[in-house]
Amino acid sequence: MVNIVIFGPPGAGKGTQAQKIAQAYGITHIATGDIFRREIRSGSSLGEQIKALVESGRLVPDELTVEVLRSALEQQPTAAGFLFDGFPRTNAQAEALDRLLASMGKKVDVVIALDVPQEELVKRLLQRARQQGRADDNEAVIRRRFEEYQRKTAPVQDYYAQQGKLQHIPGVGTIDEVFGRIRQVLDPYFLKQTDGAA
Ligand code: AMP
Repeated sequence: MVNIVIFGPPGAGKGTQAQKIAQAYGITHIATGDIFRREIRSGSSLGEQIKALVESGRLVPDELTVEVLRSALEQQPTAAGFLFDGFPRTNAQAEALDRLLASMGKKVDVVIALDVPQEELVKRLLQRARQQGRADDNEAVIRRRFEEYQRKTAPVQDYYAQQGKLQHIPGVGTIDEVFGRIRQVLDPYFLKQTDGAA
């Protein structure tokens, strides 16, 4: 069981790399942003509560987000490991994740931080807005999402760095180049696991 957190600023390519990682290592991908967008589309009461926040680029409150995460974890009792994408985004969420995993006898093993320069990020986000029509990819909202990231999410890196779990990966280059770097970091964790079982 290897549990991974991937994080990086908006536009760093988290979602794309997360899908590749989950597939390559056979672990369960949990993306709170995807869950929130689904809830909004379905018109559920949770969706109604969070719509304005998500669409304006603000973070959903920690209590709500942690509940959503808890329920996503509970729906996957047989997962071989988890890849958390877009969670945790605050120190309080990181602490809640540790508690949740500990209660299941699990822990975060490694944290991947995708590093991409800001000019490149804005370029990618505006391009994604045109291609996918995400409601939270216009310029004002992008700016807000960066502010939220800098203020609340970037400090979470220190939380994991202090635990010796943080691995920086340059997020510039082709999708496959970035994925190759990620594999170099992650492969040993999965090899170790196989050795241990043998
Ligand atoms: P993402 O797809 O990860 O970029 O998330 C899209 C939006 O969903 C964010 O801008 C937030 O409004 C909301 N969101 C996703 N994950 C979280 C989280 N862990 N905490 C708070 N808000 C979140």
